Amino acid sequence: MPIIVQKYGGTSVGTVERIQAVADRVVRAREDGNDVVVVVSAMGHTTDELLAMASEIAVAPDPRELDMLLTAGERIAMSLLGIAINARGCRAASYTGSQAGIMTDTQHGSARIVEIRPKRIFEALEGGSVVVLAGFQGLSLSQYEITTLGRGGSDLTAVAMASAIGAGVCEIYTDVTGVYTTDPRIEPRARKLDVVSYDEMLELAAAGANVLQSRSVEYARRTGVRLHVRSSFEDEVGTWIQEAEEPMEGVLISGVALDTDEAKVTLERVPDRPGVAATVFKAIADDAISIDMIVQNVSHAGATDLSFTAPRADLPRVHGVMERLVKEIGADSYTIDDDIAKLSLVGAGMKNHPGVAADMFDSLAGEGINIEMISTSPIRISCVIRAADGERAVRVVHGRFSLDESGSSPEIPTG
Ligand code: ADP
Ligand code: ASP
Ligand code: MG
Repeated sequence: MPIIVQKYGGTSVGTVERIQAVADRVVRAREDGNDVVVVVSAMGHTTDELLAMASEIAVAPDPRELDMLLTAGERIAMSLLGIAINARGCRAASYTGSQAGIMTDTQHGSARIVEIRPKRIFEALEGGSVVVLAGFQGLSLSQYEITTLGRGGSDLTAVAMASAIGAGVCEIYTDVTGVYTTDPRIEPRARKLDVVSYDEMLELAAAGANVLQSRSVEYARRTGVRLHVRSSFEDEVGTWIQEAEEPMEGVLISGVALDTDEAKVTLERVPDRPGVAATVFKAIADDAISIDMIVQNVSHAGATDLSFTAPRADLPRVHGVMERLVKEIGADSYTIDDDIAKLSLVGAGMKNHPGVAADMFDSLAGEGINIEMISTSPIRISCVIRAADGERAVRVVHGRFSLDESGSSPEIPTG
């Protein structure tokens, strides 16, 4: 029997009614003659609510306890869905990440999958059950501790399990009908894309298009799992994420993304001598903080300012590292600015068109939007701007590159 993996995000299982609708869809897939593994996220905003409770109690909650807490969200959703599928006369059993053999490293909050031992999943499928799997969680291989896979990590659970059990397709059911040229909540004229290459999707996801977790796209690219991003509320075909087909010469840009979850960190008057950057970024990496853009200013009187961006969620740890570093390397001080946004333009065609960056900067200038940092890859240009300018910047750049399609505004359910 062909195996399909279906993943349902938080909005899709946000209420009991929506869980009932998901159960209907799962049963249909089963009746169509498939073995079905369903991965679920926590209901609605459960993860955010649990996080908020923890941070009311402690500024930097203990990472092990936090993972234990957050994994409870997916456990609620998986068991309710299991109950709903069983109530329809279709056998189903739910499993936590650890029961499903998702083995990780020990990095609480952003654990990496190191191995999958899907024995119980195969047994359940062979026994005729639909498998309901809690997303976002695993078990550390060396310490048998409960871990989580980073925000949006249920996407990664789905992709990794699809690869481990040889599923033919991994369907990501969400609250929009596919991947658009930009977030349709910001620009209603955004256009749905039929196919996006792994490389472009990876850049879009890493740049803040949170329709897919970037690590899940990386995993899919590495293992060749094809993804179908589609709506859990409608039946229409969504967006396929797969290996690039024939390069499409005419297609220059595939999308615009906005990341509002980052902050700009600046070390002021850092001594300008060999080895300082290595010391700074090693200390940051040792605390497992993933930084992004790095800018070093021109040196004056033997000292320079060094800026980079880091996830806001990591700021408690960033403060700790920066306090240590200021003393260790003899910098003057550090500042953290969390009122920024990162705007990115992504497209495989841009590498052969030198005018793209100039056009992007010109469209921002035309709106009086100041660019504070710039970074590029062969298929992406990113700018740090003021947070308040973020959504306006998305619309102006989206328009400048004619990414919209007049007349079709996607209907988006609210969480
Ligand atoms: P889920 O809970 O199903 O995982 P997410 O909230 O993580 O859903 O992701 C879906 C959301 O991603 C959409 O509601 C949309 O606002 C946002 N989004 C951002 N960029 C894009 C894009 N380029 N295309 C589609 N959706 C996008
Ligand atoms: N519930 C987790 C989160 O909100 C994982 C997920 O939804 O994918 O980040
Ligand atoms: Mg998501």
